[in-house]
Amino acid sequence: MKNETYNSLPSPCWLLEEKKLIENLETIAYVKAQSGAKVLLALKGYALWKSFDTLRPYLDGCCASGLYEARLAAEEFGKEVHTYSPAYKVEEIEAIAAISHHMVFNTPSQFHCFAKKAKEINSNLSLGLRVNPEYSASPKEIYNPCGLYSRLGTTLENFDENLLPRLDGLHFHALCEQDSDALEAVLENFDAKFGRYLSQMKWINFGGGHHITKKGYDLDKLITLIKTFKTKYNVEVYLEPGEAIGWETGVLVATVLDIVHNCIDIAILDTSAEAHMPDTIIMPYRAEVRGAGKAGEKPYTYRLGGNTCLAGDIMGDYSFDRPLQIGDKIVFEDQMHYTMVKATTFNGIKLPDIAVERRDGTIEILKTFGYEDFKNRLS
Ligand SMILES: *Cc1c(COP(=O)(O)O)cnc(C)c1O
Repeated sequence: MKNETYNSLPSPCWLLEEKKLIENLETIAYVKAQSGAKVLLALKGYALWKSFDTLRPYLDGCCASGLYEARLAAEEFGKEVHTYSPAYKVEEIEAIAAISHHMVFNTPSQFHCFAKKAKEINSNLSLGLRVNPEYSASPKEIYNPCGLYSRLGTTLENFDENLLPRLDGLHFHALCEQDSDALEAVLENFDAKFGRYLSQMKWINFGGGHHITKKGYDLDKLITLIKTFKTKYNVEVYLEPGEAIGWETGVLVATVLDIVHNCIDIAILDTSAEAHMPDTIIMPYRAEVRGAGKAGEKPYTYRLGGNTCLAGDIMGDYSFDRPLQIGDKIVFEDQMHYTMVKATTFNGIKLPDIAVERRDGTIEILKTFGYEDFKNRLS
């Protein structure tokens, strides 16, 4: 992508690079073909639905965390809709059951409350329970579903064997940006705890967090683990990655609005870490900036900050070959997953528009945001 193209985009703007998305999808298609697993898109991480035409041929459907994501999956993706929610609400059960293929409950108590009703609405619905294998090597506690006191999934101690005749499958989600050796360790723990029930199941869902499309990920190991598991228990295996689908498939383009000096040079951008890339603060992680190095690596170092009044709205310190000028574009890499699904209009700041660069290099603006999007959320 040439720099002039960035100048022609609205700012700020998310730009999906379709070619890179397809490269990820081809890796996923390879895993599916070699392992026999089914793969769903986790809408929690990536839900840019105007790209679903590109995704659909490669994937088996979506996994949703509640009614809205399930509706989006049914309306815009088609194929299989798998819904799991930490807790369903009584008023949403009918609508969720009607459009879902799999419905996964978090606890035996939720199962007892709602499974019968859900089956009455949709007799083809396949029912499952999320279990907690109580093991995870997740790198960050906030992203560890199997950490101490986790509310996500049923521990073996709380498992209710009376449910077994009514369960088609079990679900676990224990990984976060991890390689297949981490999955192997989770599977050992899952098997040790729940293995005795697995031959009664039709499917097992291995959740998300598989960093399948990251360079260096051990695909062969993943494929072997799935094949071995499928043979051992004669079950269908599902994976539901979010991040791995959108991994390194696009950028957030922003503009330098001003440069201030307070002991260091600070560039104020027309975007926000807090509002548009919150994981940079929550996780925290440092987004790569195209053409920039770490602080001090190149001659001109700047702190990049957002255009909100939050003091901590900072992307980090970056160095450049040339001094930054007002009007320069700053291109943050890898901004397709866990960004637009989390973005807010905090402090009245404009949401980034959404554009796509098609395979043939043409740019299409898919969505623009304005004042009404800010106003309409507030009453
Ligand atoms: C978040 C989540 C996913 C997707 O996780 P990624 O890290 O984006 O792959 C899948 N399943 C469940 C239950 C989740 O909570």
